[in-house]
Amino acid sequence: MAYLDHHATTPIDPRVLDAMLPYLREQYGNPGSPHAYGRAADAAVERARVQVAGLLGAHPSEIVFTSGATESDNLALRGVAAFYRDVGDHLVVSTIEHKAILQTADELEAGGMRVTRVPVGRDGLVDPRAIADAIEPSTILVSVMLANNEIGTVQPIAEIGRITRARRVLLHTDAVQALGRIPVDVDRDGVDLLSVSAHKMYGPKGVGALFVRQRRPRVRLVPEIAGGGQEGGRRPGTLNVAGIVGLGKAAEIAQAEGPEEARRVAVLRDRLRAALGPRARVNGSMRARLPGNLSVCIDGAVGRELVEALDARGIACSTGSACSKGIEPSHVLLALGHTPEIALSALRFGLGRWTTAEDVDRAAAALRSIL
Ligand SMILES: *Cc1c(COP(=O)(O)O)cnc(C)c1O
Repeated sequence: MAYLDHHATTPIDPRVLDAMLPYLREQYGNPGSPHAYGRAADAAVERARVQVAGLLGAHPSEIVFTSGATESDNLALRGVAAFYRDVGDHLVVSTIEHKAILQTADELEAGGMRVTRVPVGRDGLVDPRAIADAIEPSTILVSVMLANNEIGTVQPIAEIGRITRARRVLLHTDAVQALGRIPVDVDRDGVDLLSVSAHKMYGPKGVGALFVRQRRPRVRLVPEIAGGGQEGGRRPGTLNVAGIVGLGKAAEIAQAEGPEEARRVAVLRDRLRAALGPRARVNGSMRARLPGNLSVCIDGAVGRELVEALDARGIACSTGSACSKGIEPSHVLLALGHTPEIALSALRFGLGRWTTAEDVDRAAAALRSIL
């Protein structure tokens, strides 16, 4: 098989697995315990916190470990909405956010918050001026993803950050797809909260983090669950030590090797695009795009059928998000202005760390023969 679905998940890097294994075998202590086992586990968690903070340009105390980015997105929106309820009741999101944001925003709206959903252009990009126009005196939070998981477009987050700073509104970004692929820096980008998932950057599933800014400004939030004092009370529960160690190692590798890997993967992506031919039309901006992403619509085709036929030929790709399975037209492609029929003709390729030129050539040849 050629695995070209790195937006859905990534294989675990062997170096990450090696770092994790001792914490599943002999180092099984609870980081909260007052003995050598506990101290060893606690030291490993704190090392990982430094590694994750390093990838983001953050301070280790600003990292809260979670069960993944779905939880991080929920904690950011719900936690901030609850803490700042007396300050304001208005939230701004883009229309191409991940469902973890959009459905959370819907629920907050049902609970009395007001939500403004800012559209994107045909290029799949949010116009920072539209964010500025959406902000009201009662706005407490803007949430715009750094890079889209379907079409790979990279949002002008630093420009949006300058606006939210000037208006004294908090900015959250879901950076799951961006980390390890493009440079991220919470200070440069003016970001106050940022979601991380390990399994999208060659780490294990079921672990993630939320960056919560601790100075200028100090962001406060109400925890989602009750139970203990872990993570500064922001996320109680015994820590997933091995998973957190894996996330830390994945972050360290991403920081060291991300830029070089991005250059290599972008070359392969451009090779794939050229090989697909003119019937494949790219969704969204080619300029502001993740290096490993190619999302196309194929004239007159049904994406789900193409994915099945490619799967039978040993090529793993997808129509769009792994959550919708290509049966419903993607909300992201509809937001670009596509008709439902065109949206259902989409194919998403996600190239990654071990993708080869041969994988790409085989995928393109298989698709041409299917068409
Ligand atoms: C995968 C993904 C998530 C969810 O992350 P999990 O760790 O799987 O919960 C959130 N946002 C984006 C953009 C994603 O791609």
